[in-house]
Amino acid sequence: MPATVPIAVPPPPSAASEFELIRRHFSRPCAHTTLAGGDDAALLQPRAGMQLAVSTDMLVAGTHFFADTDPAGLGWKALAVNVSDLAAMGAAPRWALLSLALPAADEAWIAAFADGFYACAARYGVDLAGGDTTRGPLNLSVTIIGEVPPARAVTRGGGRPGDDLWVSGQPGLAALGLAMLRGQFRPDRDGERCLDALHRPQPRVELGLALRGVASAMLDVSDGLLGDLGHILEQSRCGAIVELDRLPVAALLATGADPLLAQRCLLRGGDDYELLFSAPPAERTTLAGLSQRLALPLTRIGCLTEPGSLLLRHADGRLEPAAAAGYDHFA
Ligand SMILES: [Mg+2]
Repeated sequence: MPATVPIAVPPPPSAASEFELIRRHFSRPCAHTTLAGGDDAALLQPRAGMQLAVSTDMLVAGTHFFADTDPAGLGWKALAVNVSDLAAMGAAPRWALLSLALPAADEAWIAAFADGFYACAARYGVDLAGGDTTRGPLNLSVTIIGEVPPARAVTRGGGRPGDDLWVSGQPGLAALGLAMLRGQFRPDRDGERCLDALHRPQPRVELGLALRGVASAMLDVSDGLLGDLGHILEQSRCGAIVELDRLPVAALLATGADPLLAQRCLLRGGDDYELLFSAPPAERTTLAGLSQRLALPLTRIGCLTEPGSLLLRHADGRLEPAAAAGYDHFA
């Protein structure tokens, strides 16, 4: 018998309360959880010899998303941003815990949120193994647990001067989507693609697993490419040069965004959940093959240097400190 999900449920204040609704919508079967449902704790069985990788992330209405955001997209994203953190370590996601604060019972909202959450869980092989609910301002907290063989996780601290810098997929699309929602940008085309990138990020789990032993340092881009690159530089004790004319802006320009907006969204926009990583130049052939196998663009955008600053190289060869170009939040 498949186990069901033990989201803790306080005594219902009335028949068919919101908690009953939650129980109804968050009790889908688990694939690899030993005991989940009806007990005080879930029992998780890691595969033999595996290390557990754990991360947690909170999403607050008004801070991380608009309160009127499509609930299915929110359900997907609440889990996806956590899955992305494990991808960034080269770990395989396995279990999630979900804590929800909800202002009111709204069955349509809860059902749509659950559908989005479970769609992401199914896509990435994650069991919802437990959680908690309470009444309060809309607030979602997910804890993700995954597995990685000992000493195989990719950290932020292994980069070396001379390593190439790579980014996956299309960073900047989600920022264009956010600019659309704020009424700051009206695309000529591909607007749906921008909104989809914002609402339904695709964590790069397969890539993260394939980069074990290939990438020297890695993280997922959640706060903006240059800002997050700063974390790699700090942990790896390196500087970096980012080549502006190597940035993958074509898809951003195709929306009708002007070159300056496209570049700013790519370098500074958050919410992309692409992987940013360093790798020795000897891995270029491997990475080209990997890009083909996963049908996922991997773009070499620069290199790590001796400890120093983060520099942007313009097409004419001119070097400019990122901070001087207005990209200062990495500092
Ligand atoms: Mg992260």
